[in-house]
Amino acid sequence: MGHRPKMSPEEVRSHLLSYIESKKNEQTQLLEDLVKIPSISCTQHEGAAQKLVERSLRGTHGIDLDLWEPRTEDLSAYPLHPIRTGEWTYDGRPNVVGILRGTGGGKSIILNGHIDVVSPEPVKEWKHAPWGSEIVGDKMYGRGTMDMKGGIAAMVYAVRAIAESGIKLRGDVILESMVEEEYGGGGTVAAVVKGYKADAAIICEATSSNSIGIASGGSRFFRVKIYGKPEWPHLAHYGVNAIGLASKVYEALLELDRERGLRLRGKHPMLESLRAGDMRGPGRPTNMTIGVMRAGDWPATVAGWAEIEGRVGFPPSESGHDVQREVEQAVRRAAEGDPWMLEHPPEVEWWGARREAFELDPSSPVVQTLKKNVDSLVGPCELYGTSSASDAAYIAPKVGAYGGIPTVSYGPGGGGAHTFDEYVNLQEVTDVTKVLASTIIDWCGRDDAL
Ligand SMILES: [Zn+2]
Repeated sequence: MGHRPKMSPEEVRSHLLSYIESKKNEQTQLLEDLVKIPSISCTQHEGAAQKLVERSLRGTHGIDLDLWEPRTEDLSAYPLHPIRTGEWTYDGRPNVVGILRGTGGGKSIILNGHIDVVSPEPVKEWKHAPWGSEIVGDKMYGRGTMDMKGGIAAMVYAVRAIAESGIKLRGDVILESMVEEEYGGGGTVAAVVKGYKADAAIICEATSSNSIGIASGGSRFFRVKIYGKPEWPHLAHYGVNAIGLASKVYEALLELDRERGLRLRGKHPMLESLRAGDMRGPGRPTNMTIGVMRAGDWPATVAGWAEIEGRVGFPPSESGHDVQREVEQAVRRAAEGDPWMLEHPPEVEWWGARREAFELDPSSPVVQTLKKNVDSLVGPCELYGTSSASDAAYIAPKVGAYGGIPTVSYGPGGGGAHTFDEYVNLQEVTDVTKVLASTIIDWCGRDDAL
């Protein structure tokens, strides 16, 4: 039994922090390599990027790996799974989970991140190549740097730092690098269905190194199908134009959005803070976006059909089910005011990701543990909410037998996510890594008998 002198908690922490500091270049290299892979959601490049995460974890003593390609049959076990049609496949796009097992008796934690990114188009608008990982000063540019390969690099090195420093934890750490977040969250749903759960979860999405997300809006995607009566030109006056009908439905949806905005205003200060330009919702805890309108087949035929597609967001006081009913009622009201639609009612379909909203109490233990470490390692910590959704929606809200895990978002910040010249602040990557590692020790507990 080789006895080393036991380290005090302060010594352990300072050892860990200097270890992370010493691995800065290596960590930046991993981030650079990840960003150079164009892992746009639902492409095979997701798999290529996952290989790098796998490789970075594989060599680390004490980390067990679980890699699997989700199957759509498995996803359907989740009550609100992202609805997929046709031959959807995860071939070549595995989830990667790394597990650092505790010695027992401590609380467990999930660190979750997504490897996929959104399209960089239009690329010609970028001043820095989207797949170039170009570093200027403290910023690394490229699609996915902020959202959220910076977060992936932080969580990988936080866990590696603990494992490689020989620190034994009491509780388990589950590191999840997931596919397909941007396109609905099938990766995380697959991990939830597979049984991965813990006493708390941190989604390492870009909040900035001194702010923690504790509330998030829910969302539903809808499609309204509107039916008119096509006619050819000389009988056009006998036709019923679906474009005109669709505009009535559109007005009714806008009216619902206005009414919801007024009704819910003031009820969710976390989601309404008036800070535009970042993740906070400027003055509104709910928004409806109408993003797609299609109609008709041919200029010389009265449009016989139309479709409107949109997304409705909602705050934690509402359930997705109730919000769906409100949208359906608004469409019905529009139809009832039109003699043709009364007889030929539009249909509302729900498709894609179905995410519930959630809000965590600021006094919740995981918030307090993380906040304490942000305060001491980075600076005064801010708690906030966002009406945008992330994979937290499949971990935090209780949905059927799943979820109900206290979940926060915390990761390195930057700018330009989902637009041009995305970047992450490299200092924040380091700071977040330190905060995560230190939080894990506090949360899971250190087994100092070893
Ligand atoms: Zn993201």
